[in-house]
Amino acid sequence: MSGSYSEVEEYVRNTPGSKKFYDSLSGMIPGGVNTAIQFFNPYPLYMTKAAGSKLWDLDGREYVDHCLAYGAVTAGHANPVVVEAIKQQLGRGILMGFQGEGVEELTREIMRRYPFIEMLRFANTGLEATFYATRLARAVTGRKLIIKMEGAYHGAHDTLLVSDKPWRRVVLGSCYNPASTPDSLGTPEEIVKLTLVVHFNDIDGLERVLKEHENEVAAIITEPLQTNSGIIVPVKGYFEAVRKLCDDYGVLLIIDEVKTGCNVAEGGGSQIYGIKPDLATFAKTIGGGTPLAAFGGKREYMKMITPVGGAVHYGTYNANALSVAAGTACLKEALTPAAYAKIMRLGDELYKGVENAVTDTKTRAAVGRCTMMGTIFFGLDQAPKNYREASMCDAAMWYRYWINMLNRGVIPSGSAWFEEWMISAMHEPQDIQKTIQATYETLKHIRS
Ligand code: PMP
Repeated sequence: MSGSYSEVEEYVRNTPGSKKFYDSLSGMIPGGVNTAIQFFNPYPLYMTKAAGSKLWDLDGREYVDHCLAYGAVTAGHANPVVVEAIKQQLGRGILMGFQGEGVEELTREIMRRYPFIEMLRFANTGLEATFYATRLARAVTGRKLIIKMEGAYHGAHDTLLVSDKPWRRVVLGSCYNPASTPDSLGTPEEIVKLTLVVHFNDIDGLERVLKEHENEVAAIITEPLQTNSGIIVPVKGYFEAVRKLCDDYGVLLIIDEVKTGCNVAEGGGSQIYGIKPDLATFAKTIGGGTPLAAFGGKREYMKMITPVGGAVHYGTYNANALSVAAGTACLKEALTPAAYAKIMRLGDELYKGVENAVTDTKTRAAVGRCTMMGTIFFGLDQAPKNYREASMCDAAMWYRYWINMLNRGVIPSGSAWFEEWMISAMHEPQDIQKTIQATYETLKHIRS
């Protein structure tokens, strides 16, 4: 996929430092990045500094950042309270091989925000949290199958890296019966078969699969709104129906709050949509930008975790003192009720500005949105209800938008059409104005 000649040329003119670094790094590190999502054509940007709402690249160019490390830095880059907490902890130890005392306060804070969490375990990444939660669900139910939503990303482990971004028509399977498609070479087909795929917002499809596999399904894992497919919100009544089906069929409901948690609201998407999960998974914001994740839920299930029960959960770095200190400062001091009020206000402003830019420039696009997150779906007339509708968007147009926004000093989202914009506690109204202005200019340019 490539943009029009002029905008990519401008990007190349703007970023010689990144080009040089990429040429050197990509001989040693595949793609010159350490997570594939950071790569985009013609080569990725490399950063030298992050502060507040901004990033600076190797050429000293400044960007308003709405990627925010894919939702992990809602406190804002180098938020002073988080930095101070890390500094304080550095003098007292990073990793002790015994549980540090700070973990109690953070656990209580997460439980306050998510009242359905009766017990919790910490890990390091979202991948680990969803891996352990699905294993626990299998241990609890004695069943093997896991149901996930087409297009949903829950981390790159074999069980859930299935039908993450299946390509249109070729490998998707029919609308009625989506295929289970591995997203990586090296995934054994025996494992892929244990993951069933349904559409987000499709209760009939979910019920059909549950009926077909009665007494075989351990858990349904879904986000409270589907991100990583653009922003797709649940239709009215969806989660009440999902909860009822889980109860009727004895299936655990796992809500993945890795990206939405402590972001779209203090209590994440579960709070907004009133969801009552059996288990939930967290990462990103709970670590204030450091590697920290968690999974938790009903006591009767969490008691099956080792050493209390037989479902294994290990990890040298789990709840390390540095991440716990950063996470506690982030949730208790940076993301205060006043900070959320500001984030939500700016979220409204940005959404309205983007909607107006789309309308005024007569761009064919729909905007998906949940509070401080949003996505422009180019080429769609309505915000999609599931991944398959979302994947019909014009990805080539999105790429032109992405490069144009970078050229105007704004990182509009993560680096793919299925990513979303975010807003941090350190964004200010002038940042939002700059982003809206850049969106207007970009849409005018790519339509001309
Ligand atoms: N679940 C969701 C919803 C995510 O968005 C992500 C990461 N984008 C993950 C899980 C995996 O998290 P991590 O990158 O920390 O492994």
